Amino acid sequence: MPYQFECPRDGCSFELRCDADREAARLARAHTRVAHHDRIAPADLDRWLERIEAA
Ligand SMILES: [Zn+2]
Repeated sequence: MPYQFECPRDGCSFELRCDADREAARLARAHTRVAHHDRIAPADLDRWLERIEAA
């Protein structure tokens, strides 16, 4: 089941798509750390990670 993450921060258009939720979460956290020098709270990560239903 693919997952999608769209960075919600102002001025950032980063997005990713990943087959595994763990991998998507890892990449989303890595992006936030590197690009914004910040961390994502687990609750926010749940909200921002979107599961894409397979057609
Ligand atoms: Zn970002």
